[in-house]
Amino acid sequence: MIERLKIIIRGAVQGVGFRPFVYRLATEMNLKGYVLNSSRGVFIEVEGSSETLKKFLLRLEKEKPPISIIQSLEFQILDVIGYKEFEIRKSEKEEEITTLILPDIATCKDCLRELFDPDDRRYLYPFINCTNCGPRFTIIEMLPYDRPLTSMKNFKMCPDCEREYHNPEDRRFHAQPIACPECGPHIELWNENGHKISEKENCYPLVCELINNGKIIAIKGLGGFHLIVNAADDNAVKELRKRKHREEKPFALMFPDIETVKKICEVNELEERLLLSPESPIVLLRKKSSYELKISEYVAPDNPYLGIMLPYTPLHHIIMRFLGKPIIATSGNLSEEPICIEENEALNRLNGIADYFLVHNRPILRHCDDSIARIIHNREFIIRRARGYAPLPYLIDDELGDNLIAVGGHLKNTIALKKGNQVFISQHIGDLSTLESFNAFKRTLGDFQNLYETNEAKFVGDLHPDYISTKYLKDQSKDYKLIQHHLSHIAACKLENGVKGEALGVSWDGTGYGFDGSIWGSEFFLIDDENFEHIGQFRKFYLPSGEKAIKEPKRTLAGILYEIYGSDILNSAILRSKFNETELKLIVNQIDKKINSPECVSAGRLFDAVSSLIGITDYSNFEGQAAMKLEFSIEKGVDEHYEFEFLKNEIIKINWEKIITGIIKDIEYGIQKSKIATKFHNTLTEIIVEFAKYTNQKKILLSGGCFQNVYLLERTIERLKQESFQVYWHQRIPTNDGGISFGQIAAYNLKNRKLLN
Ligand code: ZN
Ligand code: ZN
Ligand code: FE
Repeated sequence: MIERLKIIIRGAVQGVGFRPFVYRLATEMNLKGYVLNSSRGVFIEVEGSSETLKKFLLRLEKEKPPISIIQSLEFQILDVIGYKEFEIRKSEKEEEITTLILPDIATCKDCLRELFDPDDRRYLYPFINCTNCGPRFTIIEMLPYDRPLTSMKNFKMCPDCEREYHNPEDRRFHAQPIACPECGPHIELWNENGHKISEKENCYPLVCELINNGKIIAIKGLGGFHLIVNAADDNAVKELRKRKHREEKPFALMFPDIETVKKICEVNELEERLLLSPESPIVLLRKKSSYELKISEYVAPDNPYLGIMLPYTPLHHIIMRFLGKPIIATSGNLSEEPICIEENEALNRLNGIADYFLVHNRPILRHCDDSIARIIHNREFIIRRARGYAPLPYLIDDELGDNLIAVGGHLKNTIALKKGNQVFISQHIGDLSTLESFNAFKRTLGDFQNLYETNEAKFVGDLHPDYISTKYLKDQSKDYKLIQHHLSHIAACKLENGVKGEALGVSWDGTGYGFDGSIWGSEFFLIDDENFEHIGQFRKFYLPSGEKAIKEPKRTLAGILYEIYGSDILNSAILRSKFNETELKLIVNQIDKKINSPECVSAGRLFDAVSSLIGITDYSNFEGQAAMKLEFSIEKGVDEHYEFEFLKNEIIKINWEKIITGIIKDIEYGIQKSKIATKFHNTLTEIIVEFAKYTNQKKILLSGGCFQNVYLLERTIERLKQESFQVYWHQRIPTNDGGISFGQIAAYNLKNRKLLN
């Protein structure tokens, strides 16, 4: 199948023979499309088979002119346009230029070479950087990007640095964060009371010794603090879990180099590219079935994947070089709070968590977590957009009218700002339930409005009246619009993939506020360029004790069985094995009398209930855990699925009753859990395929947190393709609620078709 590869490159790629190089490569590979140079970067589009496009992408980076440097590369696979030739296009006439704030860029090869060269004046200097690498977004106070307006303003350049800074021939010509051991920032090692134990190069061997001795070190990095422990040390990892109140949620790892990663995980070419890219995100990789290097099983319990990144600052490179083994590098915070960025704040907030603090005196001006990504079907799939990506704009084809400020959702919150045809999506902010995150939310909102001067913008937020972001928006402005959560997901997927005309949107996630005020999460929408129509969802069930059911999937199971059997569930053997009689009576009473037992149609909660039903887990320690465990228990190669039916009312209600009764029968027959789990996943895919056939739409959009489930996503893509549908899923924008702010902008002008008639 022929696809279109679209690439945007930023960096030192202008005036270095980059366009002729792209032209030669594309024509040699017989690809059609164009390359274009503009103030916003180099744009490339080529069309070809999926395999050829992958080769083009990899060769582009490997064979580029030696003096060109890529600071950022984002690519997408889109529908074919049908180019007839390959051309070097003339730059469009330059429109109003918004100065770009670059993201923080991983240390470049040239700086790395100097860093480990004993004869270099920056030997082992942890703040080495140049025009092509180093901090940007996290040190910029405001524009224009000039040293006095960065957090480097208090460091006066020494004569040597000054000379490099003013020499147009030098790699550090106008490198704003330029520094050296003479004049730049320094590191210090502190104990838990903030007393200095060591400084400068003397810290390195000490830090390594502490890590080897099982200590927990808070290290001030680029966009905030990391908590570091030896990834092989079971006791240290368990201690970190205990202190951080993080029972089972996987920790991210930092590996010394790509070779060591390959000892532990399967790494394909695109994954390798991503690990080594200037963005340097955490990449989710599948563990090998056996390996010699030890990684504690407490890093990611019962999880077939590991989240791995490579060192991306000079300080990380030095520590990893000295240490020579993988470490956990998790955000320096209490779970769900934003990452710490300041040393005194860290001493305070990480008190009792970290044993030592490796700090420095270059202020971090805004928090920026590590980004998370994986490869799906030869495409990148960004799960958390932060360091390396924020705050680069996402360019949209149409201007879509007004300038907008989108306040996003509640969990995994991001905000977004639309100016002309650029959408600036903020770095990941997090779960807005804590005061710390709410403050970070307000800071980021103010920050983006200042940076991009959008005072005339209109506000847009989520329909949920209790979301803190929604409440905040209502306080800020009278001129706002609220968008239904699942519509935002779908509109985000449509806009990101450049899909024009009518499509069927499938929006599945854990929770969102529906038009009828109930909890949605299994939504089907028809959507075109102007209108939308809500056309289907699951049959309802109950969440006894509301929010508590999210942490206790067995409650959701009771809520589902109640919808089928009513108060007969008092005799259910399965439920009686999970609840005592009093508890069960209480639940039935609760639902009967409609006390704190909201109705819900969430696909995410259905996953939870099935996870409990087949005995995988009755509790979730973190958002989505029960569903993840269900996914991880899958047995590849099972093709069967359960029955289901469509009830045609005003909208289509998908009746899941036969799925549940089918599973109960399978349990009684003694069918293995893994097989049941697989059949359940397959059923969800078949529901989407049947729905797609029923609506007679050609284009299907998949969005929402449920599609982080790789088995569900990949199988649904494959089945839809088999049935000749065109299927779209997320690439650059998160499929989870991190994509809601972008979706609110995408859905801003859409009208409800039902209300039009
Ligand atoms: Zn550099
Ligand atoms: Zn200097
Ligand atoms: Fe959602």
